[in-house]
Amino acid sequence: MDGAGLPPASLRADAAAETVTLVLGEPLAAGRHTLELSWTGELGKHMKGLYQSKAEHEGKTENYAFTHFEPTDARRMFPSFDEPEFKAVFRTTLTGPAKLTLLSNMPAVSESVHDGMKTVAFAQTPLMSTYLLAVAAGRLVPQTRKVEGVDVTVWTRPSEAGQAGFALDAAEHALRSLNAYFALPYKLPKMDLVAVPDFSAGAMENWGVIFFRDSALLVDPKLTSPRAKRAVAETVTHEIVHQWFGNLVTMKWWNDLWLNEAFATWLAYKVVDRWKPEWNTWLSFDARRQGPLGVDALASTRAIRSKAVSSADIRAMFDGLTYTKGGTILRMIEGFIGEEAFTEGVRLYMKRHAYGNTEADDLWAALEEASGKPVGRIARDWLGQPGYPLVKVSALSADRGHLRLTQKRFTADGRAEAGRWAVPVQLAYERGGKVRTHVVLLDSETAEVTLPGTGPVAWVYPNKAETGFFRVGLDEDLLAALPSGLEKGLAGVERTGLLSNLWAEAQAGSSPMTRFLESLTRFKADTGRPMTEKTAAALVELQDGFLDPADAGRFARFASELLGPRWKDWGYGKLSDDEANIARASALAA
Ligand SMILES: [Zn+2]
Repeated sequence: MDGAGLPPASLRADAAAETVTLVLGEPLAAGRHTLELSWTGELGKHMKGLYQSKAEHEGKTENYAFTHFEPTDARRMFPSFDEPEFKAVFRTTLTGPAKLTLLSNMPAVSESVHDGMKTVAFAQTPLMSTYLLAVAAGRLVPQTRKVEGVDVTVWTRPSEAGQAGFALDAAEHALRSLNAYFALPYKLPKMDLVAVPDFSAGAMENWGVIFFRDSALLVDPKLTSPRAKRAVAETVTHEIVHQWFGNLVTMKWWNDLWLNEAFATWLAYKVVDRWKPEWNTWLSFDARRQGPLGVDALASTRAIRSKAVSSADIRAMFDGLTYTKGGTILRMIEGFIGEEAFTEGVRLYMKRHAYGNTEADDLWAALEEASGKPVGRIARDWLGQPGYPLVKVSALSADRGHLRLTQKRFTADGRAEAGRWAVPVQLAYERGGKVRTHVVLLDSETAEVTLPGTGPVAWVYPNKAETGFFRVGLDEDLLAALPSGLEKGLAGVERTGLLSNLWAEAQAGSSPMTRFLESLTRFKADTGRPMTEKTAAALVELQDGFLDPADAGRFARFASELLGPRWKDWGYGKLSDDEANIARASALAA
């Protein structure tokens, strides 16, 4: 303390609280003091803190070291106020075997080699949270590209050097797009993307030195499917979004972790969709959304924003509700206030809180300022209570121009549960030969809506592009009016969304199974993969959970008629109407 040593007895460790307390003999005088700590430790084995990793090089196993700190493992490597609100600057110096590459958040400023070892000192970081610090030591080779003044490098093991190109393209696109989106350039002089041989998460957004497990970063150009490429692009973009949203502006406490992850999830899909529209990125988001739609209909679900005290509570928050329900809520809010106002609000928020810490309310305030709409009220409804509503729509007039909307909490088993939301509903409808959108806020149990325009309304679908985190139910007339054709009418994601809704309602017992089966037949012209997967998965569940054995033959014929032509399109052999069809459906749905 202030240059003088402290006796060992002045240190008191509390393992349960993960803290060390320094007890001084004398009270300290008011003013500025300096505390210097030195310590030693061992490399961890469990992919937490600073840990040992092993990799093969030219037939020999070598030891590498990497870090993973989020959420509460920086304290395993160094004593610190290891909570996101205690931001600090870091000057890191590493010493390791000279044959290895040593990396940290910032570029190296000096390097010296001595006795087979090397010491690298890195530039001082900006003000940042402890969980974002990182170091790496491994036999790594670089592929670098300059993007808008930033050195972007993908680091791989030498044997994988040929698989870095796609990640570099994805990172370049993400960095350019996000520099523009946030209207605030990326803050560090370099951005490393490192393929880590042993990594517990998919990826980690350490500021300036992002870590990935191999499969989330590397793409073998000869073998990898478009689906795998899309997943890599999403992960790379997600981590780069965090360089702003999470790293530059950080949550005060882990109860707002959801905002960090929800935002990165949603914006990554948006950026990747713009880059490669042919990948149908939002269709894959919809498939991902079905998981939390299922979980959140169970009695055991939780509100997104929930209390987190211990390290275990915090770890439990990294789930589908945090990432995907959270991401859908942001998308729903963007749809409600409009893309322009949403972007403006995000820019305001980033500028106002750069290098600081925030709560979710700070984002809602900025979005309200930019849009003049009640974003906070909507967000609090969706974050503070568990579950989601079923929005039922019925026509009040023969021309379908006048509708009634009602909401009720949706549960998987049909049990009654309380819940009321301010629901931004995007109604897609066709009137006068044109498909239009009408956005309303359903914030009471029931409301009447008049669709703009004149003449009869051909059809209405109340969750345009499946942007909302709710289920929809249509009355018989509205369901029958939906077009089955693929060219005009419902988008692919809406067709699969509608079937998911009908299937969930049938399972919950609130709508007859026949409505679902008839709709399957109706959309059988859609032989694309998402619809086929949805159909196959539902048929398998239906067979396993609901089928009367006496109906097995008829059911198999039904499944065969529905899926048979698709097998032929996909190059399968001749079909017989037996249970083999269902076995194939099972394999497909797995
Ligand atoms: Zn993330």
